[in-house]
Amino acid sequence: MATIAEPISEKAFTGTPRKVTAHITQNEALMFEKSSPGKKGYKLPPLDVPEVDAQALLGSAARESTGALPELSEIEIIRHFTRLSTWNYAIDLGMYPLGSCTMKYNPRVNEYVSRLEGIAEAHPYQPESLSQGALQVIKSLQECLLEITGMDAITLQPAAGAHGEFTGILLVRAYHQSRGNPRKTIIIPDSAHGTNPATAAICGYQVVNLKSNAQGGIDVAALEALVNEDTAALMLTNPSTIGVFEHQIHKIADVLHARGALLYMDGANMNALVGKTRPGDFGVDVMHLNLHKTFSTPHGGGGPGSGPVACKKILEPFLPTPVVAESSDGTLHFNYNRPQSVGRVRMFYGNFGMFVRALAYILANGPDGLRQTTEDAVLNANYIRAKLEDLYELPYKTPSMHEVVFSDRRQVRNGIKTGDLAKRLIDYGFHPYTTSFPLIVPGALMIEPTESESREELDLFIDAMRQIAREAEENPQLILDAPHSTRISRLDETGAARKPILRWKPNTE
Ligand SMILES: *Cc1c(COP(=O)(O)O)cnc(C)c1O
Repeated sequence: MATIAEPISEKAFTGTPRKVTAHITQNEALMFEKSSPGKKGYKLPPLDVPEVDAQALLGSAARESTGALPELSEIEIIRHFTRLSTWNYAIDLGMYPLGSCTMKYNPRVNEYVSRLEGIAEAHPYQPESLSQGALQVIKSLQECLLEITGMDAITLQPAAGAHGEFTGILLVRAYHQSRGNPRKTIIIPDSAHGTNPATAAICGYQVVNLKSNAQGGIDVAALEALVNEDTAALMLTNPSTIGVFEHQIHKIADVLHARGALLYMDGANMNALVGKTRPGDFGVDVMHLNLHKTFSTPHGGGGPGSGPVACKKILEPFLPTPVVAESSDGTLHFNYNRPQSVGRVRMFYGNFGMFVRALAYILANGPDGLRQTTEDAVLNANYIRAKLEDLYELPYKTPSMHEVVFSDRRQVRNGIKTGDLAKRLIDYGFHPYTTSFPLIVPGALMIEPTESESREELDLFIDAMRQIAREAEENPQLILDAPHSTRISRLDETGAARKPILRWKPNTE
């Protein structure tokens, strides 16, 4: 195991930061503004077939004009989008320490494999006889994920983590209904991701809130007092959103099972567990995984993601339809004959391209590689914790897993909040960490480096955070006005969320 070096001397933080501080700031007009009539990005040969009367062919669906579309040449379009792309921060540019999101590197081999012709060009309406390879990809990934989670059955249909939660809780509901015992409530700890209570509510359950104990974990006695004949399930994130492993997880499972309730695990934090311990072995009945977090498939910008749901045998009959099955001759097919299924949750079979990438990642690492990945992720988070805990308040001293949560308590004395510190981090060339989440930590700074980061990049991040802590003491205004190095300075985020302008309109004045 690597040893943690001496704290970096404060001298290292004077002078200019070691990382790039300026973004490329080329100004760029909208395509509509750059447009000039008659420009085209294509050239067609002269018409050599009879012209058709669109009105006669299409009736009222025919359009005389295309409306006001921008007219530009090909290179203008290419440059426009290339310039826009340079305004984005990306994992391929540097560390993306967004806690809870597990923003890890997507290895290029994933992309290579997913672009192989037979895979990229496969069509969901292709007959099963011509889709044996694709079916095998699904089956192999399912087997790997079952081995990793220790569960009995799985569906790859859900398109994201929240969608996986929805599917998992539908299984819970179908299970209780099938026993003639529909239940009304789902217990959710106050440290939960916001999607958990939203899922429970959208599936028709009442949410019962459970307060965390002083270590940020579940208070088993309090849970015992809450669980009753109406409890359908507990939704638990493990490790929790403060990056703490739930040591009493066995007991928690026993408390629930004794009263006929189920244990749902939000598996978005599996990057701290893969290869070390398995939810199926510590009492979990149903869980989702985020392939776009733990298994390295691309993440952000709204998808596509993938949120497989794994469950124990008792929930298998309810899994979404269809499921992959093996025929007696060894070929694979989809089985649609599932009378107790909750139905489909997604068209076709889920986001197949994500399955290919996740499988490539799992096979490229192998069991020992995956275990190493987990250990490196935990080591990196603890390295950051050790290097920053003298300057930033650590509200929970419980050992950290793959992420560490500080609070802004010391900086608030100078009027500086977590969001301000995060904006200043942009000036040092990093994407901000997660701010103000989880809610049980007021002014949270939630940092998750993942195993992707080298010691060198972590040191740059630590440098930046230490320098920012100094600035908070010496020059608070510098932080309050940040970022300074970006094209656009601090935005009105509330305005952007509440009154978004999503459409360009011609300036008619
Ligand atoms: C990311 C995350 C989710 C939701 O996953 P999406 O793919 O964004 O829908 C749920 N729970 C936790 C703990 C998460 O970190």
